[in-house]
Amino acid sequence: MPERRVDIDLAAVRHNVRHIAEIASPARVMAVVKADGYGHGAVPVARAALEAGAAWLGVAHISEAVELREAGIEAPILAWLHTESSDFAAAIELGIDLGISGWELTHVVSEARRLERPARVHLKIDTGLGRNGCPPDQWEALLGRALENQEHGLIRVVGVFSHLAVADEPDRDETDHQIERFRDAVAVAEDAGVDLEVRHLANTPGTLSRPDAHFDLVRVGLGIYGLSPFGGQSSAELGLRPAMSFRTSIANCKEVPAGHGVSYGLSYLTDKRTTLGLIPVGYGDGVPRAATGAPVAVGGRFYPVVGRIAMDQLVIDFEETGIADSADSPLGQEAVIFGDGNGTPTADDWARASGSINYEIVTRISPRVARRYIDAEADL
Ligand SMILES: *Cc1c(COP(=O)(O)O)cnc(C)c1O
Repeated sequence: MPERRVDIDLAAVRHNVRHIAEIASPARVMAVVKADGYGHGAVPVARAALEAGAAWLGVAHISEAVELREAGIEAPILAWLHTESSDFAAAIELGIDLGISGWELTHVVSEARRLERPARVHLKIDTGLGRNGCPPDQWEALLGRALENQEHGLIRVVGVFSHLAVADEPDRDETDHQIERFRDAVAVAEDAGVDLEVRHLANTPGTLSRPDAHFDLVRVGLGIYGLSPFGGQSSAELGLRPAMSFRTSIANCKEVPAGHGVSYGLSYLTDKRTTLGLIPVGYGDGVPRAATGAPVAVGGRFYPVVGRIAMDQLVIDFEETGIADSADSPLGQEAVIFGDGNGTPTADDWARASGSINYEIVTRISPRVARRYIDAEADL
């Protein structure tokens, strides 16, 4: 029985990558493994994704890309979020591609000159998200600077990319506008004489709902972990298998009278005599404190979290009596916080209960919880 454990099913990751690669084909797949692989472990997920046919890896920070290189991973890697303190020299030395929105170019070029080695860059256009990316009215100027440095052998412009804002809501027309602006920016780059290896725009929702956003490469994070980006569609409906499950066992079980308070603030009072189960998992383990009401599975049945979630523990209500001291007492039984949805709650359930998104639920599970890698195919 696990004390407290997150299991990562690498066979599920491979299945998801193969499934998405089929949908994206002929575009290639970049497996996005930033934030420690959305909490799943960047290196094991990267290896599994590459085995299953991903051609690229994507991360936010150069430091994350360096970790992958240090683990011996040689596939192309793109890092796209930098500050003036980012280690551009390490990126150039380790052959890590750099996303460039504007100011970074000066820094990258000066490191490339010092190292006498060209940097591989992907120029980012802001097609509407309003975060990183070059404003369209400065695009030609950025291309001009990039081409000049390319002529001097300091950089090689291999990609143009952008990021979608509302692809998880397929009915919204802003995605059409973003695709249109992206096509324009690519055309301007190609007319200026840039010889592109890859044009890329789509994230997971864009990949699944907009074939016209695939271009040469899709950058897929959430989907490779088996989670759905759409409010109205489950993982199973998309042919995806959630890779992460979070399990523990019941740490205490006792019967209490009606009117008994539960957890800090005594915000929950039992309305009848009932049995409470103590789960040794709290916000210190990364479950959201706001998720009161979320389901926990014990013996295949779901029970709600009652009262406030504390740093180390939370309480579920079995809404039954006479079980605490019986032969089949829940004490010590396995409790599933979330899993693949086959008889378990899901990360989506915890997202709904806490007013968040499944991305955050899996990414925030803290290092206090041990990760274990399982590989269902290898067990066959
Ligand atoms: C995180 C990220 C992605 C992946 O998004 P998903 O919705 O998880 O697929 C793709 N591109 C960029 C620039 C990102 O920051």
